[in-house]
Amino acid sequence: MAQLLDHRDGPRDECGVFGIFAPGHDVARLAYFALFALQHRGQESAGIATATHHGNIIALRDQGLVSQVFDENALRSLAGDMAIGHVRYSTTGASDWENAQPIVRDDNRMLALAHNGNLINAVELHGELREAGVPFRSTSDSEIIAALLATHRAESIQDAVANVLSRLRGAFSTVVLTDDAVVAFRDPHGLRPLSIGRIDGLDGSPAWCVASESCAFDMIGATLVRDVAPGEVVTLSASGIESRVVAGGERRAFCVFEYIYFARPDSRMGGTVLQAARGRMGEILWREAPVEADVVIPVPDSGNAAARGLARAAGLPADDGFIKNRYVARTFIQPGQELRRQGVRMKFNPVPEVVAGKRLVVVDDSIVRGTTDRQIVQMLRDAGAAEVHLRISAPPIKHPCHYGIDMSTREEMIAHGRTVQQVCAELGADSLHYLSLEGLYEALSAGRSEHCDACFSGEYPLAGTDGANGKFALARELPLVRA
Ligand code: AMP
Repeated sequence: MAQLLDHRDGPRDECGVFGIFAPGHDVARLAYFALFALQHRGQESAGIATATHHGNIIALRDQGLVSQVFDENALRSLAGDMAIGHVRYSTTGASDWENAQPIVRDDNRMLALAHNGNLINAVELHGELREAGVPFRSTSDSEIIAALLATHRAESIQDAVANVLSRLRGAFSTVVLTDDAVVAFRDPHGLRPLSIGRIDGLDGSPAWCVASESCAFDMIGATLVRDVAPGEVVTLSASGIESRVVAGGERRAFCVFEYIYFARPDSRMGGTVLQAARGRMGEILWREAPVEADVVIPVPDSGNAAARGLARAAGLPADDGFIKNRYVARTFIQPGQELRRQGVRMKFNPVPEVVAGKRLVVVDDSIVRGTTDRQIVQMLRDAGAAEVHLRISAPPIKHPCHYGIDMSTREEMIAHGRTVQQVCAELGADSLHYLSLEGLYEALSAGRSEHCDACFSGEYPLAGTDGANGKFALARELPLVRA
């Protein structure tokens, strides 16, 4: 989900979605547990919608963590045979209740919808719908998808999805709840993840679910069956699971940053366990830029797996040079540079016994603004480190993401317009090496042609992404419209 009014430091969202069809079972509770596992994908708001067969849709959504939004009473009130859920993550402000999901619409048909991604033609679609007199309550592009589906005249929701899907441009891993099915669909490029899971043993027949990441299946005792294919529409209903591929032949463009940072390391994506892939990134990082050193330390937790891989390849000990306070929210999402800096200090405390007098290889997964690693280097020096060599298990981030991951603006990215040596000097490190794009794909045992690496390369897989239809243009073009 993305904000239509999004601009620069405005909210840009990353999200997690879940859907389940399991009559006779506590679907709200299963959704609740699944959202717990997906919490890293969004800490801003959470919501669950349930439906009873041919009955009503009930939805509960609010700002806050999953554990804050739902209590026992709330879960009990969410009775139903099927459910969808959503967690949302945005950077700042404008995080009003209306923008929490699932979105519920009752136009020609009633439905609830949860979306992860970002539409790049949101302005046009929004304009068309407004002209046709369709009211909007939120400022999100996700409501555009919901409105297109809810107002569609097609007899079945599947036909409506097939029709609407061809009009959407951008990233959308989407789950829709009607009064008789959960329908999940993924954009033809497969930009954001979406997988199918199966729960056996509930009452003899399998129950089916979908989730952004397979770690949600582990949480509820489901097994990963496969990824939803790009352009595929999957229906979970009383008839079991049905699939229909309604778009195809587009260039595949799965987000490579999911592998590097965003997804949980215990999730499997495209057949890869991310923890293992991140370890290989560390090994290759060392091969690309070895250095005389005494100990390898990760920037916890995002650098952990790559640091272990690097230490393995280097034959060096790995140690906890920092202790992380787990109760401080992600620094990246705090508005304003001063708060962000303070956030980093609150989050990491160096262990002098590990770092003093040592030549350190410090491993982090990525650098965006450089706030974290500038502070990390300074804290290590203050704690007596002899040398600090930074190794980053991603290439330099130089371009914003228009497909649903908050990457900040070009101007704020430390690698934008700077050489690696200049970034190194800015961060105050003794040396700096970023994993090469080739090294990254080697670690993933995958080809570039099936992935999106626009944040590194600037090569956006969808034509027109960076032009007038890009996300940053939306804020300037679109007035706040409320029904
Ligand atoms: P920065 O301090 O601005 O350089 O941010 C980089 C740190 O934030 C890295 O250590 C990552 O672990 C984390 N990070 C990278 N990309 C994102 C993102 N899109 N959203 C939230 N955190 C991120």
